[in-house]
Amino acid sequence: MRVNETFVSLQGEGRFTGTPAFFLRFSGCNLACPFCDTKHQSFTEMTEDEIVREASRHKPRHIVITGGEPALQLTQSLIDKLHEAGFFIQVETNGTLPLPEGIDWVTASPKSSPVREDLKIDELKILYMGDGCDPERFLESLPQRGSRRGLVGFYLQPLDTGDEERNRAILRSCIDYILQHPKWSLSLQTHKMLGIK
Ligand code: SF4
Repeated sequence: MRVNETFVSLQGEGRFTGTPAFFLRFSGCNLACPFCDTKHQSFTEMTEDEIVREASRHKPRHIVITGGEPALQLTQSLIDKLHEAGFFIQVETNGTLPLPEGIDWVTASPKSSPVREDLKIDELKILYMGDGCDPERFLESLPQRGSRRGLVGFYLQPLDTGDEERNRAILRSCIDYILQHPKWSLSLQTHKMLGIK
């Protein structure tokens, strides 16, 4: 498997913000979003067993599998092996590709395309890009079934433009939007605010 990086940190975003976790970032993505801030292209080859061994060396038993787009490489056997090793498995996906069964928590962060109809997701995390942004459009195309628990999290995450003034304007606009559309909650990239990975 092509692994971009692994590390231990706190989950910075969404429902599990603050949770200690082992991060597995797969290399490669099927989309090419102009605002992508993840350098996921480089990789080291690792077998499934090497990944499980590396994850198990650390104390957290929450694993965040991300990318790039993890669905390009994620296999049922890796999910099963991680479960056997005692992990709670969270996957962060752009929602355009199928995923293996049994994932404990699926965070879908759709970009240009909607979440595919057969995907069971637990939380939806939309990048909020400023005035005129319409996150509700992702709800129209969203399958209503969700996972075992049902879809429980609706998050808007202000886009990080790299420009402080613009970021402040986007954050203000995002908060206004949420106050008018209270189905949504704010998700901040707390790892960036804390200066951790
Ligand atoms: S889906 Fe995510 S990882 Fe892929 S290009 Fe878009 S922002 Fe980057």
